[in-house]
Amino acid sequence: MNVNDTEIAWAILQKNGYARTKDLGEADVILLVTCSVREKAEQAIWNRLRHLKALKARRQQARLPLRIGILGCMAERLKEEILHKEKLVDIVAGPDAYRDLPRLLAVAESGQQAANVLLSLDETYADILPVQTSTGGMTAFVSIMRGCDNMCSYCIVPFTRGRERSRPIASILQEVRMLSDQGVKEVTLLGQNVNSFRDTSEVQFQSAAAPVLSRGFSTVYKAKPGGLRFAHLLDQVSRIDPEMRIRFTSPHPKDFPDEVLQLIQERHNICKQLHLPAQSGSTRVLEAMRRGYTREAYLELVHHVRECIPGVSLSSDFIAGFCGETEEDHQQTVSLLREVRYNIGFLFAYSMRQPSKRSVSELCGRNDGNIKVIFPDAEIEDAAGCKALVRAQPGDYVVVKVTSASSQTLRGVLLCRTTLSRSAACP
Ligand code: SF4
Repeated sequence: MNVNDTEIAWAILQKNGYARTKDLGEADVILLVTCSVREKAEQAIWNRLRHLKALKARRQQARLPLRIGILGCMAERLKEEILHKEKLVDIVAGPDAYRDLPRLLAVAESGQQAANVLLSLDETYADILPVQTSTGGMTAFVSIMRGCDNMCSYCIVPFTRGRERSRPIASILQEVRMLSDQGVKEVTLLGQNVNSFRDTSEVQFQSAAAPVLSRGFSTVYKAKPGGLRFAHLLDQVSRIDPEMRIRFTSPHPKDFPDEVLQLIQERHNICKQLHLPAQSGSTRVLEAMRRGYTREAYLELVHHVRECIPGVSLSSDFIAGFCGETEEDHQQTVSLLREVRYNIGFLFAYSMRQPSKRSVSELCGRNDGNIKVIFPDAEIEDAAGCKALVRAQPGDYVVVKVTSASSQTLRGVLLCRTTLSRSAACP
């Protein structure tokens, strides 16, 4: 997705008179396209910014201004932090704000920081033909939808890339035809949930029935009737050039109706390769992840896919160490890996995020005035003057000495356990 985003941003800038250089030292503008999916990806950008700081200082000494921009998911997630902490960043643009880049750069030219992180309900960059930045020119990405409505509990995507929306089929077909004319041999259709594609731009298809989900799968949102679906798109795309391979990524396992599987099996130019992100082999963890299926439903889908598309290559994503995952849950994931025998697996350790502004070593309660009070967990006296030490439990009343305050929260240190009647007597 980020390679494709880079191509879109680059197409917009090229149209506005910007030229590309491979020599970092001569660049007047450096834009970093970022990812927030895992902590490591964000860390790479913070490190990169540290390196660019020195470059910017050198350019400033030579009176050659250098503008630095952060684009994509990290811009969306950490706008304030980036602008305030990293004074060297001049531009922050979220994934739906690339059309605004020329304006943001113009603002930055005047020496001010500029940001646009507005998420859109309909931006698909349908009319922007990306400039292919990947080498060779034999393969290309074609973005067909953006955003996600699934709200898996561990995932930042619905908040950084916004709601699900699909690009009109006509513009996708036009781009694929153009790529075919250029001699491209392999096109990958791209989307956060590529097989949830639903083009509602053609009015005659507005009343079509709701999509059929894979058996045993559910969604957190209501069924979305109407529109042209992924099977229709895949059919049309695969007819353009019988010598052009078609792939798609990244699909959600819930959206594999039989007509999609049948089409993949029938068309020689649609690659017999499916990515079926499982994330975990434990139903308990899948429920905590809000994935909308059980281990059994997932396995049933795998068997069905193998029946429909003999010889299909399967790949998957897994997260290890999700909150609350036990050794037994982990072993279920290992057994799923053994049972399915994927061709490729993408395995990641869960990246812990801030659960809230309060750390896990802190406790939280409310005072009589209903103001939130946060304090570190510690052993305390059972009651004022009492020698016995205890730990505060949910439901306990405690005396807290307030040491600081923000607009809505008090922070303090725990003094002792008390009762409601005794606390009423406290000053
Ligand atoms: S379906 Fe994928 S992109 Fe959407 S919330 Fe779940 S993990 Fe994130």
